[in-house]
Amino acid sequence: MSQDRLDAVRASMETEGLEALIVTKRENIRYLSGFSGDSGVGLVTRERSVLVTDGRFREQAKREAGAWQVEIYSRDLMKALADVLADVRNAGIEDSSTLAFNARAAKALAEVDLRPTDGLVEALRTRKDDCEIEMIRAAAKCAEQAWSTLLPMLQPGVTERQLASSLDYRMMSAGADGPAFDTVVASGPNSSMPHAAITDRELAEGDLVVIDFGARKDGYCCDLTRTVGIGDVEGRGAGILFAVSQAFDAAFAKVEPGVPVAEVDRAARDHLTRIGLGEAFSHSLGHGVGLEVHEKPSLSQLSEDTLEPGMVFTIEPGVYLDGDIGARYEQTVLLTEEGPEVLT
Ligand code: ZN
Ligand code: ZN
Repeated sequence: MSQDRLDAVRASMETEGLEALIVTKRENIRYLSGFSGDSGVGLVTRERSVLVTDGRFREQAKREAGAWQVEIYSRDLMKALADVLADVRNAGIEDSSTLAFNARAAKALAEVDLRPTDGLVEALRTRKDDCEIEMIRAAAKCAEQAWSTLLPMLQPGVTERQLASSLDYRMMSAGADGPAFDTVVASGPNSSMPHAAITDRELAEGDLVVIDFGARKDGYCCDLTRTVGIGDVEGRGAGILFAVSQAFDAAFAKVEPGVPVAEVDRAARDHLTRIGLGEAFSHSLGHGVGLEVHEKPSLSQLSEDTLEPGMVFTIEPGVYLDGDIGARYEQTVLLTEEGPEVLT
């Protein structure tokens, strides 16, 4: 697995005319080497793959990044990088790396022509291999199990904070490493904010409650949203719940290999526009999911990406009426040669 990914990144480096690549993004290091620690730099040259990290990660790095040479630095990370890159004339440096890192690298690697790359490893990560798909399935299973046991708690009087913490706890009990992101529980008037912060508000009869959550398992995420009505939900609440599920279906029906993502976004948006709720759908349709909870492809109106087999992404139409009420329905979807499969 690790070798296939190294071969792929070297092919991309070749296309870009790069002799080396300095990998600073944690998820990219993990993708290429297996190392999950939060400190280190990956260096890929035509012949070598070297993980430079500090003494705290000595054992973990050797265990997880077994196919890579592990270099432990004690004081000067930049000197360690310069030693490995002594013979290269140019190196790509990830566009996500910090200005501070880039400035230090430019100084320490004065002889090397450093060139910012444009999502080079991220592009490889958009099509998941079988091993990654299994991990996302495992994350989805944890989320699903947590959700099914949470349902009896959805009663008037319970607070948003109690629900969110209980959901996080249940995901971990089901085997997750933790939540993939801060769980959203937005009830009643809070539901009109797509990314509302948790409050101590108690659920009340007639509320819509938007619950956006996901598990992380072995580094991989899933992402889903359910909107539930507490007790009897009046006509309008029921109406927007139905509208987002119809918008989801309209988008999902478009999903197949070769389709521009903008077209999938449009299908959901057109549906909501036809019933007068187009303006209330205030974000894009979805995003890729993998080692990061938001990654390529972006399913937006403006994107020029095309759906490919192996992509895993969300479809999440929402309707938000400011200060009043909101609903969203979100699934994590895998696209195979045969068509889409809902994972959550
Ligand atoms: Zn979500
Ligand atoms: Zn999402």
